[in-house]
Amino acid sequence: MTARVCVLGPSGRMGRAVLEAAVARDDVRITAAVDRPDAGGLGAEVVGGLRATSDLEAGLAACDVYIDFTSPTATRAVAEAAVRHRRAGVIGTTGLGPAEDAAIAELSRVAPIVVAANFSLGVNLVLGLVRQAARALGPEWDAEVVETHHRAKRDAPSGTALMIAKAIAAGHGADYDRVKRHTRDGDVGPRPRGEIGVSSVRGGDVIGEHTAYFFGSAERLEISHRATSRAIFSTGALRAAAWVTGQPPGRYDMLDVLGLE
Ligand code: NAD
Repeated sequence: MTARVCVLGPSGRMGRAVLEAAVARDDVRITAAVDRPDAGGLGAEVVGGLRATSDLEAGLAACDVYIDFTSPTATRAVAEAAVRHRRAGVIGTTGLGPAEDAAIAELSRVAPIVVAANFSLGVNLVLGLVRQAARALGPEWDAEVVETHHRAKRDAPSGTALMIAKAIAAGHGADYDRVKRHTRDGDVGPRPRGEIGVSSVRGGDVIGEHTAYFFGSAERLEISHRATSRAIFSTGALRAAAWVTGQPPGRYDMLDVLGLE
């Protein structure tokens, strides 16, 4: 079956990447492209005669599943509208807070939703690897995550860095909120045992780089992932869109889509 897809934010970096990646696939077909009312490019053709609009209701009515790489505010508004249409969703927006999570939870009661801060196969494997490493090495090995992204990225730390740091905490059997350290500045004192640090670097056009460090005594393990094209995210999101339309209502992640644990 070919899933009919509504792409949100066709003028955005990820929206454009999704439109480009969809052309080569036969398991999805773009049937709507919806942007915010003041976005550039409204009315312009985005793919095969299809034009970008700001009519969300019409866009949701014309699809089986929507793909959302926008902003937390938009993600919440679209999820609320999608409840009325009982539309499946693939959500990649990062920086989501409790209000957005609540709207997604509401939608997942009536439709299947994939939510992932990173749609790449490599990063989803990294999550399993860092958890395994943290379990084997224990909190004696100081764990730090460093992420680097382009200068336009709005949220920090990246959603992917948070997933990696939480996977390390899970490997330590620790409560992440108790051990996290997202920034260091001033007289922070010696590093407490079991702390998990996350640092953010911003600059240029870097698509996304993440390294988990495990510092032992006289040795260091590094597990790194570097994205060199947004196609890895857009291809993953389209794969998720084709997969999710066949699922019962609920909230899924990329490990479900990839068939990994
Ligand atoms: P961007 O600023 O280039 O694009 C955002 C798009 O959303 C724009 O086209 C904007 O017009 C549109 N938009 C805003 N409000 C809207 C609304 N109400 N309705 C419809 N469209 C709306 O940003 P980007 O670099 O494409 O990133 C978007 C999001 O995706 C960010 O949160 C980013 O962190 C995340 N991201 C996730 C992954 C992943 O794998 N999950 C990968 C890359 C980026």
